[in-house]
Amino acid sequence: MALIVQKYGGTSVGSIDRIKAVAERICRARTGAHDIVVVVSAMAGETNRLFKLAEQLSDSPHPRESDVLAATGEQVSAALLAIRLQALGFPTVSFLAHQLKIMTDSRHGAARIKSIDCSRVLRALEDGNIVVVAGYQGVTSQGDITTLGRGASDLTAVALAAALRATLCEIYTDVDGVYTADPNICPGARRLERISYDEMLEMAGLGAKVLQLRSVELARRFNVPLVVRSSFQESGEGTWVGKEDQAMEDVLVSGVTLDQNQSKLTLTGVDDRPGLAARIFGPIAESGIVVDMIIQNASADGRTDVTFTVARTDLRRAIELVKMVANEIGGPGVRYEEQVAKVSIVGIGMRTHAGVAAKMFRVLADEGVNIEMIATSEIKVSVVVNSKYGELAMRVLHDAFLGKAADTTSGETA
Ligand code: ASP
Ligand code: MG
Repeated sequence: MALIVQKYGGTSVGSIDRIKAVAERICRARTGAHDIVVVVSAMAGETNRLFKLAEQLSDSPHPRESDVLAATGEQVSAALLAIRLQALGFPTVSFLAHQLKIMTDSRHGAARIKSIDCSRVLRALEDGNIVVVAGYQGVTSQGDITTLGRGASDLTAVALAAALRATLCEIYTDVDGVYTADPNICPGARRLERISYDEMLEMAGLGAKVLQLRSVELARRFNVPLVVRSSFQESGEGTWVGKEDQAMEDVLVSGVTLDQNQSKLTLTGVDDRPGLAARIFGPIAESGIVVDMIIQNASADGRTDVTFTVARTDLRRAIELVKMVANEIGGPGVRYEEQVAKVSIVGIGMRTHAGVAAKMFRVLADEGVNIEMIATSEIKVSVVVNSKYGELAMRVLHDAFLGKAADTTSGETA
């Protein structure tokens, strides 16, 4: 009997009607003679609602208590779904993280899973039950409740699928798969039939929200086959996320992403001598700010400019730190641009095909879009442009690499 892990996101269990619909889908899979483990998110909006309650009581709720609070969202949806499945005549048992010993470290709000004890799940399955697990939560060796980070019910699902050696991990959400770009911005965006772990990792890291980043990392590490599907449709192929193969490599670009939440900082007139980059970026790294792109200009008269990007939420802190360092090292100027756009193209085909970056720059030039920064990796090219042009850049790049002529999947449009 195949063991399948199904994960249902917040909108999929967002109301009583949705829970009923999802329960029916689970019953169908169960009747198809599969062992089913279901992981649920909190009902849509619930986690935010809980955090807002705490905010009304304290400016800085203790992370331990925030986790006790936030973890309740998933407890509710797990219980409600189990209640419905039982009402439909299917033996079901729900579990919270501590009951399954989903052991984590004690980093509240962003805990990492260390181990999962599968014995109770396996016993419940053997007894003929559907198993429903509350996503997003864990427990420390001290017995304290933790949460795994926003969107991390995906992670619970993949971790369980890996631990149980499930045949498949199905991620049910409100879109019917992974798209070549955000369809709200690119009308020509379409569902991908398949995508490799590496590409999915880049796309998740670049802000494609359909899968949580760490869940993709884990799926890759343990080779868990994933499929992303809509729980709002009767049937649908969805998008398969898995190991790459030859056919995937032939596709030059699989997706285009846009991140409008980046800021750019520049230090001007920095002395060009050993150790200064370390001085500038050391304190930033120590404070946990992730620096994305860095450019250092060729020096003129022994001085150079250093430009880098950070997430916009980190801008204020980054400015403070950089100004502090600037004072210490003899006062280079500090400039910043609060909102810039990062547009990226992603595809494993880039490894073996030359000229992808050049084509990207040509397409942007033809639209008159100025490129402010460039960064590349083996399977990605990112550029920073003025945020005004972010959506335009995304659209023209999508047309150029993934438009009709370059159609590389089934030719389906969404
Ligand atoms: N309920 C949690 C959140 O909203 C986890 C999840 O939905 O995956 O972030
Ligand atoms: Mg999600």
